[in-house]
Amino acid sequence: MPTPVDLLIEARWIIPVEPANTTLEHHAIAVRDGRIIAILPTNEARARYAATKTVHLPDHILTPGLVNLHCHAAMAIMRGLADDLPLMRWLQEAIWPTESRHASHAFVRDGSLLAGAEMLRGGITTCNDMYFFPEATAEAFDRLGLRAVLGITVIEFPSQYASDADDYLRKGLATLDAWRDHPLIGFALAPHAPYTVSNKTFERIGALADELELPIHIHIHETAGEIADSLRDFGQRPIARLDQLGLLGPNLIGVHATHLTPEDIERLALHGCAIAHCPTSNMKLASGAAPTTTLLKRGLAVGLGSDGAASNNRLDLFREMHQASLLAKHTTGDASALPAHQALRMATLEGARALGLDAEIGSLTTGKAADICAIRMDNPDELPCFEPVSHVVYVLDRRAVSDVWVGGQQRVKEGKLLQITNTELLGIARLWQNKLRQ
Ligand SMILES: [Zn+2]
Repeated sequence: MPTPVDLLIEARWIIPVEPANTTLEHHAIAVRDGRIIAILPTNEARARYAATKTVHLPDHILTPGLVNLHCHAAMAIMRGLADDLPLMRWLQEAIWPTESRHASHAFVRDGSLLAGAEMLRGGITTCNDMYFFPEATAEAFDRLGLRAVLGITVIEFPSQYASDADDYLRKGLATLDAWRDHPLIGFALAPHAPYTVSNKTFERIGALADELELPIHIHIHETAGEIADSLRDFGQRPIARLDQLGLLGPNLIGVHATHLTPEDIERLALHGCAIAHCPTSNMKLASGAAPTTTLLKRGLAVGLGSDGAASNNRLDLFREMHQASLLAKHTTGDASALPAHQALRMATLEGARALGLDAEIGSLTTGKAADICAIRMDNPDELPCFEPVSHVVYVLDRRAVSDVWVGGQQRVKEGKLLQITNTELLGIARLWQNKLRQ
């Protein structure tokens, strides 16, 4: 008697990420109660399982759902608002003034809907986010069915959201309490950066992270200027300062890390920290380039992040895989640096590992949640294809994604989101475009 399953997805190719450097042909994934229960040749799957629903994807590649390790989803509303500026001018002249005028629960909810829709349609099934009003992002992602780790953002200066560091923490922890039992939404502590958070606040965050067992999500060493300022103000590089404050550990996700000395790398490796590499944002703001191949060799978890749509200007991990691979080759002068399988691993399993979620997501493995991305491979502009993983990293972008499942639930079907219409999304984009213009 065949075993009943909820879903059987049959595909031309499957790149499971675990085991490494593997591509399966004519295999199927069996899903029950939101989990992968088997990956096996399609003929065997048909004999062994009786599926409530079978999806045939004869020209497609299945990969694990992508993990966006660093995003500010709500900033989708500020996509393309200001370009061609270095980080501090971009923040001070464009982003912070706009946020101080407009940031609100509605701004964050609507921006998170736009971003969440873009991410899901692009095969991203998990987003590690950092922004004000995390309860509004939780509301948006819950509606879309996107898995997320939401930052309890902390910054010393007042905003529309909170008055001081204690107020940010109080509000963020109340949001964590309200969403505590949600199956897809978790939380991290997210002190914005060493240059916007005091030693006293960092100590409190370190204690809370230990007590509540939360990741710490923080921008570090984004620019050379940040390091010069830290040497002037604290007599230390930011990573050394965080080390002294007890913040470095396996639960720390440092974003950017573009300017690292061997000593900085030693500290990060010693504490088992993770890095969110955001190549497009780093290149666009001319911030620098993280030494990804060295960090990976030292055993750090190095995932990929889009950063916000205001500094990217697109939430597309296919593009980040492409950029990460090319940037690594360019900076090392080695064409074999960061090959395609490794780039895909960064966009999936490494991101999951950074979040402490690698037992649950990040690879297509029996027992893990069925977070799956299907990529269409029937566009003549993108053929022929001799090696699917090469196409994923070097040829395609997010528009090739056809179907997406999160925890076995279909979120995107043949390129269309199932939880929200394009009409509603267009309405949101137009509304905020008009408001920000005023
Ligand atoms: Zn960022």
